[in-house]
Amino acid sequence: MSRILIKEAKKQENGEVTIAGFVRNLRLHKGLAFIDLVDISDSMQVVIMEKEASEAFSLAEKLHLESVIEVTGSLQEKPAKKNVENPVKDFELLAKNGKLISLADENLPIPVLNKIDNEANIENRFDWRWLDLRQKEHQLIFKTWTKLEQGFRRYWEDNDFIQLYTPSLMNTASESGSEVFEVKYFERKAYLSQSPQFFKQAAMASGLEKIFICGPVFRAEPSYTTRHVTEFTGWDMEISYIDYNQIMEVEEDALIAGFKKVKEDLNLDIEVPTKPFPKITLKEAKEKLAAKGVKSEKDFDFSTEEERILGEIIKEENGHDFVFVYDYPIEARPFYHMRHEDNPELTKSFDLIYRGLEITTGAEREHRVDYLERQAKEKEMDIEELQDYINFFRYGCPGHSGVGIGPARIIMKMLGLSNIKEACFLPRDVKRLRP
Ligand code: ATP
Repeated sequence: MSRILIKEAKKQENGEVTIAGFVRNLRLHKGLAFIDLVDISDSMQVVIMEKEASEAFSLAEKLHLESVIEVTGSLQEKPAKKNVENPVKDFELLAKNGKLISLADENLPIPVLNKIDNEANIENRFDWRWLDLRQKEHQLIFKTWTKLEQGFRRYWEDNDFIQLYTPSLMNTASESGSEVFEVKYFERKAYLSQSPQFFKQAAMASGLEKIFICGPVFRAEPSYTTRHVTEFTGWDMEISYIDYNQIMEVEEDALIAGFKKVKEDLNLDIEVPTKPFPKITLKEAKEKLAAKGVKSEKDFDFSTEEERILGEIIKEENGHDFVFVYDYPIEARPFYHMRHEDNPELTKSFDLIYRGLEITTGAEREHRVDYLERQAKEKEMDIEELQDYINFFRYGCPGHSGVGIGPARIIMKMLGLSNIKEACFLPRDVKRLRP
């Protein structure tokens, strides 16, 4: 008999089924064993009576927690617990046969049955991440990510985006020399891409008009914060013939599609944002923060604290979890961000903050070669090294705008996780390169 999910077995309510999963809990009595069996969909109590299923009972006697077994038996309604108001109908499996799939070692390096979710334990948990992820609250993180991405993908599909896969290996240190991992590449050096920015723009020069990328991004920044990892997944969009106000709207629609999908499919109690998201200039944001007595360390950017408090102010004023902060000065932005014609000190750029954390940087891009060269020189960049990039714009290129989104940060804030690493399957940070 082929194995079915516990969720499906519960729907079936009676008859004979085979289920399989981890032995999360085990209670042995004389002639009777109870096993809590867990699969991806749910858990079910398995009852083994020595008299009825002697082989399965001997198997239960040998088991350790987290072993994997398969059990065939008959479904029966579980007796309702006493003193429970409105008890939910639940089912258990009366075992006939049991089969050992994998015996776990007796001593687990981290407990799975009991929660140990605190910062103090985080590194220990990540050393044994595959055990840590057996907890259903942790599995929910990746179910949520999947649904969020499906919502985004539906948006991309409905709006005729083209998907691209761009290289991670580069011959130059892309946008800026810092924060880039160097790798040995045959007889020379290569660098790991810290964003697909230049490639996205090549796609605009290719005439692809609307593209998205979901891919790995590498940052060699020695950050020990709760929001930085050294390798993360980036979701990028780039669109031709639109300005930075329009790309903000595109991101609103994509986020709404993603949040809706999470809420509907997982029945999670999350707030789907409404359009339009609040939008304020960096200058206005700084004024709001100053009015609350928050000290500004840099005129042209936010500290973590400022970002957090700005999120609170906007929530209080507009009841919204998101805020676009736009018009960053040139000091804060890369050379390829387009500048305002009437105020060349300001770029047509923005960050999107969700619940007090930056989740996106976006901008209208400069596509005119003379401007690009001038702006790059101003930032003391090596024009020779930038030639491959600047060439994209020499033979006709539509004006374009785009965003770089960090989905792990969205998931972190959506689910109230304390560290971005919780939203990464196998996180990589300054100290962690394993498992
Ligand atoms: P921050 O100022 O928080 O370091 P950033 O300005 O360097 O971020 P961008 O280069 O604009 O970030 O990258 C686009 C998006 O990618 C960010 O808005 C964020 O969501 C995500 N991101 C950036 N750096 C990291 C990182 N080290 N770990 C995880 N996500 C990141």
